[in-house]
Amino acid sequence: MENRNHTARPHVTENEGLIFERSGPGKSGVDFASLDVPAVSARERLGAEFYREDLEGFPEVSELEVIRHFTRLSTWNYGVDTGIYPLGSCTMKYNPRINEVAARLEGLATDHPYAPEPLVQGCLRVLYETALALAEITGMDAVSLQPAAGAQGELTGILMIRAFLAERGNARRYVLIPDSAHGTNPASVTTSGYSVRNLKSNERGTVDLGDLDVGMTEEVAALMLTNPNTLGIFETQIREICDLVHARGGLVYMDGANMNALVGVAQPGTFGVDVMHLNLHKTFTTPHGGGGPGSGPVAVKDFLAPYLPSPVIERTAEGTYRIDRTRPKSIGRVRAFYGNFGMAVRALAYIMANGPEGLRQTTLDAVLNANYVVRRLADIYDLPYDQPCMHECVLSDRRQAARGVRTGDIAKRLIDYGFHPYTTSFPLIVPGAMMIEPTESASKQELDEFIEALRAVAREVEEDPDFVLNAPHTTRILRLDEATAARKPVLRWKP
Ligand SMILES: *Cc1c(COP(=O)(O)O)cnc(C)c1O
Repeated sequence: MENRNHTARPHVTENEGLIFERSGPGKSGVDFASLDVPAVSARERLGAEFYREDLEGFPEVSELEVIRHFTRLSTWNYGVDTGIYPLGSCTMKYNPRINEVAARLEGLATDHPYAPEPLVQGCLRVLYETALALAEITGMDAVSLQPAAGAQGELTGILMIRAFLAERGNARRYVLIPDSAHGTNPASVTTSGYSVRNLKSNERGTVDLGDLDVGMTEEVAALMLTNPNTLGIFETQIREICDLVHARGGLVYMDGANMNALVGVAQPGTFGVDVMHLNLHKTFTTPHGGGGPGSGPVAVKDFLAPYLPSPVIERTAEGTYRIDRTRPKSIGRVRAFYGNFGMAVRALAYIMANGPEGLRQTTLDAVLNANYVVRRLADIYDLPYDQPCMHECVLSDRRQAARGVRTGDIAKRLIDYGFHPYTTSFPLIVPGAMMIEPTESASKQELDEFIEALRAVAREVEEDPDFVLNAPHTTRILRLDEATAARKPVLRWKP
């Protein structure tokens, strides 16, 4: 297939210099009217020690130069609005603009978090309804929207498990985590004061019941499990797994970052999970990363609800909403106010716009897309765990590695075809992992173009491995020395 859309060319404005290089003495971005009051000397007001005559190298540029410079830079960015963003484990789906309209509505965007309850009933209702919808989607009983990210949701959930067990007289010492887990899992567990014990995955890439039986001792507080796991494989023995943990007095924490595979199809609450988090910025189309706010709500079964972060929004018998701050068993606050409120607005807009049927279809499409990709690539890229996947798939560079080309090299070459790379080298249990998550947002046409690009790279590896090893060839900056870039970053310009 001719793939004209997808051969990257150098960008027209890729030769953008630094803003300092546009500087000219006396140029300014502001133009004040002349003073009609007596001038005050800044030097005198501040004192000479705080007043600087000159900022060495400070750029002097016009307003238009500033606008053009940063607008040109912004066009270098690759985002979900530019093209497919198949970064496995990240669920980089489209964020519908209508969510932004909702989040910017005056009453929602400008209310003060300390406003009296009677004046912010609408905002409290948004929080209440969002939590209610997430509880229904997950099959859990209560939800806190406070945590600001998935990782903080994990910490919150594990702290609740600790508080619950401690109250029963023994908080225990360990949390079991499969070796396929996301790095935040062991980090959260360690931060919470527990120690991590690893569970090895079996040849199917899932938890081995025999190993769990051995590992799940009276010292273990919880099993922390991702389902589907980071290989994109559903733990089909999840009920047996949860039963075993419960029988030994432990709790089951589910990392719900992969809920894009389950929403509307399966509820973790019904298969035995006690506490889990969600990533609104993954599954529920709130914006992702870029330093902006995230949202990692935590959902629990009834018996853990007293330990939820405080405060909690309640609905009264009269149908009004109130903030409950009297929660003696709460683990306390994990975030200011009620979490990142704007994210709750966006997620609720998305959930309500789709409805139960739409959410279910989204899941089915996401799973179909991932299976389509893996089936169309498995003849040229190694598939270490050959099973139907859920919303993402993990291939490996094993065949290409025989010619010296690794997952990171293939990813760099993909940039030349105009695609954002997949996730490289994760999960750690797959050497040379190529982890692809297309999400439901990709059309078949776009998936075909992406697949053809990866097939073309595989051919290039056969014909001319050095060409791939030196990719990318079309970007402004070619192959970076990643070790030096990480260890000796140059973060500022000096005159
Ligand atoms: C993204 C992710 C996390 C962490 O979520 P953040 O919001 O980035 O903190 C945890 N576990 C899995 C499986 C993930 O994919």
